[in-house]
Amino acid sequence: MSSTGSTATELYCPKCPRRYSLSTVINLCECGSPLLVDYDYEAVARTLKVADLRNRDASMWKYRELLPVQDTENIITLGEGGTPLLRSKNIGPELGLDNLLLKDESVNPTGSFKARGLGMAVSRAKELGLTRLIIPTAGNAGSALAAYAAAAGLSAYVVMPEETPSPFLIDCLYHGAQLELVKGSIKQAGAKAAELVKNEGWFSFATLKEPYRIEGKKTMGYEIAEQLDWQFPDVIIYPTGGGTGLIGMWKAFAEMERMGWLSGPKPKMVSVQSEGCAPIVRAFEQGREAAELWENPQTIASGLRVPGAVGDFLILRAVRESGGTAVAVSEEDLIGGTRDLAAKEGIFAAPEAGATVAALEKLIASGFIKKTDQVVLFVTGSGYKYLDTLQAALNSH
Ligand SMILES: *Cc1c(COP(=O)(O)O)cnc(C)c1O
Repeated sequence: MSSTGSTATELYCPKCPRRYSLSTVINLCECGSPLLVDYDYEAVARTLKVADLRNRDASMWKYRELLPVQDTENIITLGEGGTPLLRSKNIGPELGLDNLLLKDESVNPTGSFKARGLGMAVSRAKELGLTRLIIPTAGNAGSALAAYAAAAGLSAYVVMPEETPSPFLIDCLYHGAQLELVKGSIKQAGAKAAELVKNEGWFSFATLKEPYRIEGKKTMGYEIAEQLDWQFPDVIIYPTGGGTGLIGMWKAFAEMERMGWLSGPKPKMVSVQSEGCAPIVRAFEQGREAAELWENPQTIASGLRVPGAVGDFLILRAVRESGGTAVAVSEEDLIGGTRDLAAKEGIFAAPEAGATVAALEKLIASGFIKKTDQVVLFVTGSGYKYLDTLQAALNSH
């Protein structure tokens, strides 16, 4: 046994006063809300200086004091995190934006930033003695669970919509996961997974229904701050499905502020969705605290095809607290954005990332983003997982 130095103390509910011991095997709070991890921030502030981080390997595990895994033996890593923050070569300059940055998460294991979340969640599952993990997914989360479960020697069960692009199915099968396809969206996949949890005792890894995936995703917030030499950018544009990354980064920013690692205004968080599935954008515009289910969700950006998110209130809270906004973009524009990333930046990205480029253009036109702003676009995944879809789009646009 060798300690990671984690200062995690307890799980807490962001909606009610309940708290749970870290050793509890749990999905949601009794009140139905997702649970979050609390840490001894004072201890970290006392013992760890940001300069110390420079000497650690570029990986999400460099922030281990602020991560939940207790024993280094339980860390299941495939090299996730430590991704580049690239300066835009053409998209920014063409829009008159001097300070546009691209956080390239497509280089993560399994081709998306889901590797951070699932790497963390599987490591904690191993630590807690869980062996059978099930996930409803739009694609990338299933691939990532299948890969990390394979690496950990645990069993994975992946439930996806039947229209999911084939590469997501194939890698799951290669990783040895059980796979089930359902009609409908991730919503129906979620219902199927819930049935298997109830009848066959699988442990649910559904988005935000276990407390640790978000802790992996929050490392993107630490990484961006570190890459900017402990400054916050002005705006972060994030393609939103279940919202773990947005909620996670917002948590990370609050943690860093609390430890005195940096100060100044936190970034405005912009949530981007497709016009074919925009429950968060609609709720934001209507001033609601939670989102209503989106009927008949349609978008080729499968990670955004999430008609209802358990963490909706946390996404909306983060966007509003940050002074951010929520934007829906058309399918045509998100494909155009995907082309721009490939043709103007050299990044063959997932269409979810293309949506951030389309949103950027809208937000410059509306005046929300000023030309002097430092803006980070999230390139959340690789285009190679979407070859079928992107080939079809090549012919029709
Ligand atoms: C899952 C996914 C998203 C959405 O991420 P959330 O944190 O669930 O909102 C965006 N892009 C890609 C490529 C994804 O796989």
